Amino acid sequence: MVETSSDSFAVECGTDSDTESVGHRVRLVRAFTFEAAHRLPGAPPGHKCRRLHGHSFRVELVCEGEVDPETGWLIDFGEIKSVFDPFLDQLDHRYLNDVPGLENPTAERLAQWIWRQVKPVLPALATVVVSETCTARCEYSG
Ligand SMILES: [Zn+2]
Repeated sequence: MVETSSDSFAVECGTDSDTESVGHRVRLVRAFTFEAAHRLPGAPPGHKCRRLHGHSFRVELVCEGEVDPETGWLIDFGEIKSVFDPFLDQLDHRYLNDVPGLENPTAERLAQWIWRQVKPVLPALATVVVSETCTARCEYSG
């Protein structure tokens, strides 16, 4: 009886160890900020967002997947930055309505635009979050 119990304990230890190395799923979030102007031509007549104005936008790129047992990480935060920097440059200190594909640059359209640019080069991308203000944001997951 004691031996059986001991064997059982050994198997459980092995299972725990496997769980730590191969079942370690995580979500990484890398945040970026940029300043830009826009107006929303699709807003109803008289709506304040039809007027030219600006925001300090915040973009969060959320990556999801299994932790690599060798590196101990899902993806290098620096790699997320390297991937997004060229697209950030197309947005920062711009009039967003001039950016191809952002003729009506709502947070919703901006999140989708970012998703379409970044997802092909960053397959682990799970969600794009675009915040126009501290209290208003859009989340898009493809
Ligand atoms: Zn706005």
